[in-house]
Order: sequence, then C-alpha cells, then structure tokens
Amino acid sequence: MSEKKLLSIENLHKSFGDFKAVNSISLNVHKGDIYGFLGPNGAGKSTTIRMILGLIQPDNGSIQINGENILGKKRNYLNSIGALIERPDFYKNLSAYENLKILFKLSSLSNKHKIKEVLEEVGLYEKKDQKVGGYSQGMKQRLGIAQTLLHEPSLIILDEPSNGLDPQGQVDMRNLILKINQSMGITIIISSHILSEIEKIANRMIVINKGKKIVEGNVTQMMNNDVMKVSFKSDNQEELTSFLNEEKLDFKINNDNIIVPVNEDDISQLINRITSNKINLKEVKQLRTLEELFLDLTK
Ligand code: ADP
Ligand code: MG
Repeated sequence: MSEKKLLSIENLHKSFGDFKAVNSISLNVHKGDIYGFLGPNGAGKSTTIRMILGLIQPDNGSIQINGENILGKKRNYLNSIGALIERPDFYKNLSAYENLKILFKLSSLSNKHKIKEVLEEVGLYEKKDQKVGGYSQGMKQRLGIAQTLLHEPSLIILDEPSNGLDPQGQVDMRNLILKINQSMGITIIISSHILSEIEKIANRMIVINKGKKIVEGNVTQMMNNDVMKVSFKSDNQEELTSFLNEEKLDFKINNDNIIVPVNEDDISQLINRITSNKINLKEVKQLRTLEELFLDLTK
C-alpha cells in the first residue's frame, strides 16, 4: 500500500445554525486505500462527504486532493471522483444500458465501450436490457457503482452503500468494492454506521461521533488493540469534568468513573495536562476494544 496521500482533510468545520455537524475533523486517505468512514447515525459522515464533493462549503478547514487545495476552486477535480451518496436515482422505465447511455452523453464521454465495460465490471451485463424498475435494491446499487465508474475515477466515495440491502446483497456489494479496489486500483472511501461492515473490507478507517474524530488508523491494529478509551477516577470529579469540557472532550460519567474516548497516542499527554492542572487522579484505566467503544457510541 503506497503512503501517498490522495485525500487530506484538516480541521474541517461545518455548522448548521448553532449546531456543529462537523467539528474539527482531520483525516488522510492514502492512494489504494479502502478507507472506512465509520460513525453512528448523525455523526457527520454525509456532511463531510458533501464537503469533499463541493456540494456544501465548510466553515473552516482544508481539503486537499493529490496535494491540491480544492476549496474555492473550480470543480474540475470532480472528474477524478465518482460518488454514490444517496440511493441512486434511475429512470425506472428504461433499461440499465439506456440509463447509463443517458449519463454517458450528459457527461460528454467518448469511449463507447465504457458502458459495456462498467456493466460487466458490476456483473449486470447480462441484465442490461431489463428495465431498472424491476431491479432488486442490490442491482440498483450495483448500477449506481457502474455509473460512478463511467468516467474512470481514481477515487470513489460510497455513502452507506449497504443500506437497505439484504445479507446477500451486502456480501455482493463488499465483493464488488474489493474487486474495484484491487483489479482497477481505485481508492475507495466507504461510510457506514456498522463496525463489522467496515472491519470486513477497509484497510484503514476513521471513527467519528458527534462531528468529532474519535480515532483513525489501520483497521487490523485497531481491531486487535484494547486501546480506545480511558477511565479516570478523581477525588474531585467536578474539576476533572470542567477541565474535560474546556478541552472539548466528549466524556461520559459512569458512577465514580469518567470515561473519555481517546486515541492511544494521546493518553499520556492527556494525563499530563490533567495533572499539571493540579487535578488529582486516583485511578487511570485503559479500557475497551473498538467494538465495545463503538457499541457505547451507538447506544
Ligand atoms: P451521518 O451521515 O453521519 O448520519 P450527517 O452528516 O447526515 O450524519 O448529519 C450530521 C448532523 O447534522 C445530523 O444531526 C443532521 O441532522 C445534521 N444536518 C445535516 N445536514 C443538515 C442541514 N442541511 N441542516 C441542518 N442540519 C443538518
Ligand atoms: Mg449519512
């Protein structure tokens, strides 16, 4: 896996009125990644994706694609990105082939073989003349992916592509994403609110909650390490919670314990900051697998 950054986001912010939907998100997608974008419903995944696609403007922060800042720029960069952000909308009375042909013409593409190629790629070529109205949800999603492939993107962004699919449809979707990544070398960002889905397919991922980054890293490492949280006990719980509030950390109080989701690398720094604020810690415990953490977030 190359370490070349294809997409780099720094300190991205977006509010709707007073509500902070995206609150200082930073992340890096490397070339060749299947990058999981994981968070409970309402975490801010779609809002972030819409900013990457230039559909809404961030209040603050930067987005770079291949090292180039895209904010405020012409949307030419979108030529290299394919996206499936809502349930794809097709003409139900037309066949898959006819639907793609319309999109092909609208995008002024020239390689006529491309439509056949992408239909084969997603396994719909034999059903290309059937009306889309008769397609299963899984077939429609695959046609949506075929559509993203038409203009030969180097990055595809899929916003919760497994939503509404039955278990077999979910397996098919996963296999298709793996195939596109491996045989076509396309970098993929896939969002989900289900950890097991991301775990099965992504090599790297970010977990966000309430607009904030909880953790980012290598999926295998994250799944195998019990690193995602610390539990603090203090004689002065009030001081500690007001400190954590000042630090804008998203903590929970559980009896005597104050539980803070925190990246392993940041734990010792956090402890230093707490103690240098003269807040006494009686106990510090490192807690939980990513799975347990995520269960907590989604409760
Ligand atoms: P996710 O995709 O992770 O489920 P979203 O990014 O769609 O989350 O939404 C994050 C939060 O922002 C939600 O609470 C949602 O209600 C809110 N939100 C999203 N878009 C808008 C909007 N246009 N106006 C107001 N609130 C919005
Ligand atoms: Mg969403």
